[in-house]
Amino acid sequence: MSLLEQLVAETKETFKSRFGRDPRWVVAAPGRVNLIGEHTDYNDGFVFPMAIERYTVIAADSREGDTGDTATIYSVGLDEQVDIRIRQPIAPQDQVKWWSYVQGTVAGCLDAGLQPEPFDAVIASDVPLGGGLSSSAALEASTATLIETMTGTTLDRIRKMFLCQKAEHEYAKMPCGIMDQYASIMAEKDHLLLLDCRSQQAEMVPLSDPSVSVLIINSNVKHELTGSEYPERRAQCHRVAGILGKPALRDATMEMLEAAKDQMDDVHFRRARHVIGEDIRTAAAAEALKQGDWDTVGRNMYASHFSLRDDYEVSCEEIDVLVDIAQSIGREGGVIGSRITGGGFGGCTVSLVETSKVGEVADAIARAYKEKTGIEPTLFATRPAQGAMVL
Ligand code: ADP
Ligand code: MG
Repeated sequence: MSLLEQLVAETKETFKSRFGRDPRWVVAAPGRVNLIGEHTDYNDGFVFPMAIERYTVIAADSREGDTGDTATIYSVGLDEQVDIRIRQPIAPQDQVKWWSYVQGTVAGCLDAGLQPEPFDAVIASDVPLGGGLSSSAALEASTATLIETMTGTTLDRIRKMFLCQKAEHEYAKMPCGIMDQYASIMAEKDHLLLLDCRSQQAEMVPLSDPSVSVLIINSNVKHELTGSEYPERRAQCHRVAGILGKPALRDATMEMLEAAKDQMDDVHFRRARHVIGEDIRTAAAAEALKQGDWDTVGRNMYASHFSLRDDYEVSCEEIDVLVDIAQSIGREGGVIGSRITGGGFGGCTVSLVETSKVGEVADAIARAYKEKTGIEPTLFATRPAQGAMVL
C-alpha cells in the first residue's frame, strides 16, 4: 500500500468512528519542495518546484436534512473539531487559526458560485505542519477540491489556484507568492514545474528517469530571528532594481550589476548577485535536468546553496552541515546535488540522489548530522507527485 493509500484508509476510518457513517467524498492535495530558484519569486524570477508524495487528505459527507449554514471539520493532526461557515458573509478573523485556511478557501469557492450543503469532514495530513513543505497550500488545495467535487463543479485551475492564494493572504494573513498553490494544484506525477513568477505560467519538465530521487531532510531547527530579515531582503532587491532602472531584478544581468557596483554598498551588491545568479542557475538546472545532465544539475544546486549562504545570508550552521555531509558523500556515494530549500534560517535541505542508493545516503547523512549537531533530522525520499485529486 502506498503512503497515500494508507493515509486515505486511516482518514476514512476516523470519519466513520467520529461521524458514524462512511464518507461520500475523499480528496487529496500534496505538499511541495522547491528544487532550485530561491528568493527569486518576489523578484519576478523563476522557481522550480515539484509536488511531494506527502498529502493532505479530506474525507467528507453531507449532512442529510440539515438546512443550516455550517460545516464541521476535524483535524486529526491537531485533534481539534470546529464549525466553519459555508454561507457568505465570511469575514477574515483577526486571529489566524488552523481553520482560517479552510474558511478562506470555502469563502473563495462561494465567491466562484459553488454552493456546498452542510457537511462533516475529517482532515489528515502527512505533510509536516510548518516544516516549509507547504502544508498550508495542501490544506487550501484539498479544501477547494472537496468543495468542487461536492458541488459537482470543476473550477478553472488557474482560478482555483488564485482563490487558494487569496485565502492564505486574507484569511491566514500570509502574503505568499503563487508557487505553493501552483505546485499543489497543477503538479503532474514525474514532473517539475518551471514557474515564471512574472507571467505565472509554468512549463512542465519531466523527471521521468526513475533512477533519480529527491531526498528531503528537515534539519529540525528554525532560528527565531528578528523577523525583519525577509522584508529587509525584499527591500534591498527592490532598491538595486531601482538603481539599475529595471522593474525587477529579473530584468537585470550580471553585467548591469557589475557596471553599477559603485552605486551601492557591498550588502546590496551581494543580495542582487544572488538573485540574478539564481535565475541563471535555475534555467541552467532545468535545461540540464531535461537532458539528464546530472552533473550540471548538481553543480547548480550547490552553487545555489553557497550563494544563499554567502551572498543572501539566509542559511545557518545546521543546514550548512547537512549540505556539507551530502557533498562529501558525493557522486560516488550517489549524491548528485544538495541545497537549502525554503525561506531560510533552518528548515529543510533538498538533495538529488540516485534512487538505488537513497537508503544508504539517508542513513549516512542522518548519522553524521546527529554526530555533529546532536539533533535528530527527519528525512524522506520522494519522486515528483501528482497535484490535487479526487479519490
Ligand atoms: P507550511 O505551509 O510550511 O507547512 P505554514 O505556516 O504556511 O507552514 O502553514 C502551517 C499551518 O497550516 C499550520 O500551523 C496550520 O494552521 C495549518 N495546517 C496545515 N495543515 C493542517 C492540518 N492537516 N490540520 C490543521 N491545520 C493545518
Ligand atoms: Mg505555507
